[in-house]
Amino acid sequence: MKDYCRQLTFSPLRAIRERCLWCSANQVKEIIQCSSKNCPFYQLRYGGNKKFAQKDCLCAIRKKCLDCMTGSRVEVEKCRSTDCSLWIFRMGRYR
Ligand code: SF4
Repeated sequence: MKDYCRQLTFSPLRAIRERCLWCSANQVKEIIQCSSKNCPFYQLRYGGNKKFAQKDCLCAIRKKCLDCMTGSRVEVEKCRSTDCSLWIFRMGRYR
């Protein structure tokens, strides 16, 4: 519940940054050296680059969630992992 409340303050770009930190065991160096060029977050992983529009971030989150749920839109909608930083944006919409 605590994580869910914290997520409510995130922008889509911040949610992506949090997810990248989670993926890299909170090691910023690992994010910088990330070699997963096929990840939808690859271009967005630094989190502070404002040149990306919110639409780009939401689109990348939607792709990541579909990937996480093996392409099932229904499973993404039913996702109950509220501790995931992407959860609130998983439908590709801003709240
Ligand atoms: S919100 Fe759910 S579907 Fe999306 S990445 Fe997180 S765990 Fe996977």
